[in-house]
Amino acid sequence: TLWFPLGRALNAYSRLQTGLGALHRIEEVLTLPQESDLPDTPAAGALSVRERTGPAAGGSASAPPPPAIEFDHVAFGYAGGETVLKDVSLVVPRGTRTALVGPSGAGKSTLLSLVERFYDVTSGSVRVDGTDVRELPRPVLRHRLGYVEQSAPVLAGTVRDNLALAAPDATDEDMREVLRSVNLENVIMRAPLGLDTQVGEGGVLLSGGERQRLALARTFLAAPPIMLLDEATSNLDARNEVLMRDAIGSVTADRTLLVVAHRLSTVVDSDQIVVLERGEVVAVGRHDELADTSPLYRELAAHQLLIK
Ligand code: ADP
Ligand code: MG
Repeated sequence: TLWFPLGRALNAYSRLQTGLGALHRIEEVLTLPQESDLPDTPAAGALSVRERTGPAAGGSASAPPPPAIEFDHVAFGYAGGETVLKDVSLVVPRGTRTALVGPSGAGKSTLLSLVERFYDVTSGSVRVDGTDVRELPRPVLRHRLGYVEQSAPVLAGTVRDNLALAAPDATDEDMREVLRSVNLENVIMRAPLGLDTQVGEGGVLLSGGERQRLALARTFLAAPPIMLLDEATSNLDARNEVLMRDAIGSVTADRTLLVVAHRLSTVVDSDQIVVLERGEVVAVGRHDELADTSPLYRELAAHQLLIK
């Protein structure tokens, strides 16, 4: 089909890009050509004042490193549509896990897409490691971020093809190891063809949960310092939920994770939970704090977050 050769071409074009980012960009190229041409801010000294005076530029060694991700008074609306995000300010410190929760349509997925820069903010700014994403060259941004979206697409082709998209130089042992970390090793290596097992168009030969874990494995293999995960709302039975939680927990220990969370197990383990409602941050805290102080969080926890 068209998809896989196109995937290879794109991969050759930039080995730094993660598999899922590349997939998303294929969609962008096919459906939203204008989005792939968002202009970078002209040089602008290439770096913000923040970064020039920061530790990376030889400043005081005691200055704390900038947060992994920072939303600074961000507003955004899709072209021709209403405002989706209003004045969102949020800091995601390095090496921590932040869960984003809120009703459907609150703007959670949109917020993630602004970090990857699928769209540019209307006002305010999004900074990654202290630098406005509009000032970061795309390959640098893609290298720092890994994005696993909700639908977790996999390519037609083999397991190996899918993993190689993220890391062309990965060995079989690398691949086995990453499959082990997402609890797919037994499924794949028990199949007669192992890594050469065909996963089918859109991964139809895998279950929904397996498909999302393969997408996760692909991002883990690329090993980006910052991971954005839009947790699937369906396809995860109770057993899969435990596997996902363990997979996320094991591999992201030293990484920054911003996750749109639908499951209580993902949420309660987070360092910070952000409650988004109609494009605004209405509460930030840990599970216990929010359970005490936020009626919306309590409601979400009782329903959307699948408390049993
Ligand atoms: P959430 O992930 O919290 O459910 P989204 O970020 O997907 O919310 O959507 C927020 C709002 O933006 C919704 O009103 C949705 O209809 C709208 N929206 C999402 N994606 C697009 C798009 N590509 N074009 C236009 N509107 C969109
Ligand atoms: Mg969403």
